[in-house]
Parts: sequence; C-alpha cells; structure tokens
Amino acid sequence: MNQKTLVLIKPDGLVKSLTGNILMRLSESKLEIVAAKILRVNKELAEEHYKHMEDKPFFKELIRYIQGELHGRRKVMAMVYWGEDALTKVRELAGSTNPEEADVTSIRGSFGRITTKGIYENVLHTSSDAKEAEREIKLWFEPDEIIVDLYPTKTVSMETQKKRVWA
Ligand code: ADP
Ligand code: MG
Repeated sequence: MNQKTLVLIKPDGLVKSLTGNILMRLSESKLEIVAAKILRVNKELAEEHYKHMEDKPFFKELIRYIQGELHGRRKVMAMVYWGEDALTKVRELAGSTNPEEADVTSIRGSFGRITTKGIYENVLHTSSDAKEAEREIKLWFEPDEIIVDLYPTKTVSMETQKKRVWA
C-alpha cells in the first residue's frame, strides 16, 4: 500500500554530521522523498509535535532536545518519504525508540545513545502510523512544499497576510 511518513533528522543527527549516513540508509527503502527542508523548531511546533508525550517525566527535556537546545544546533531536517509501505519500511530502518535496544544494524542502533540524564538521543523521528503521519506532515509542511498531492487541499485568499520577499 502506498504510504507517506514524516522523517526528521534530529539535532543530534545534524550535529554529528550523520545526514549523509541517514539518507543513505533510508535510500535502501527505494522510497521517494517528496518534500525536504531545514528549519528552526519553535516551542509551539515542538510541543504540538510531541503532544502525545505531554505526561511523560522527560517531556520538558524532549522539547529542548528537538529544538536543538541540548546540542547548540537549533535546527532539524524535515522530509516526507512516500511509496510502498513507507511507514513500516522507514520504521524498520530506523530501529526501536530506545537506541540501546534497537537492532545494531538499524540507524538508531548504529548512531543513537542514551545520555546520562536519560534522554534517548535517537537521531531521527519517523511517524508510527497513517493517522500520525497525516497529523505530522500537515503540521510540518504546507501543501505547496510537497511535490505530490498527499491530502485534500483548498484555496483561501489571505490578502491581509504579510510575507517577506527578497529586497
Ligand atoms: P518514536 O520516536 O520511536 O516514535 P515515541 O513516539 O514513543 O517514540 O517517543 C518520542 C520520542 O521521545 C523518542 O523518539 C525519544 O526521543 C523520546 N523518548 C521516548 N521514550 C523515552 C524514554 N523512556 N526516555 C527518554 N526519552 C524517551
Ligand atoms: Mg512516535
């Protein structure tokens, strides 16, 4: 079945220069990248992305982690992978959430670690199911940033909206 999934290379992945390694591993899936960007993650986006973890004792640190505050690298790389069984393929290549339990040949097993403060630094995020993928893709990307039509869209006029353009 054709699926889509949000992939984030987290700040530890970027600070450790793992982008190339991670993309190479993910390319084994033969999936297509249909959107990609580097962005700074503000607190609102971080909290919305991880809202299902709100009650966890590590929530505050998790928000600081995805914002890059633990790594002095305030950015993530966000992508949408699309194709046959995208969700399962990418999660399998990523490995388990806990990097110490992840298969050692997986991305998290190879490059992740648990810090002495107990943070799972697992270098990438990937959506866990179709519903989560839809919520996350719509949260991280505008329709025009994705080169295929993944979900229904509508056109609205926003005449009062200000936009920064090249000077
Ligand atoms: P996944 O990223 O594999 O979908 P979850 O959605 O359960 O995992 O958790 C989101 C993120 O929260 C994880 O990727 C990890 O960074 C962090 N996390 C999850 N569980 C723990 C834990 N027990 N201790 C510390 N950090 C955790
Ligand atoms: Mg998850």
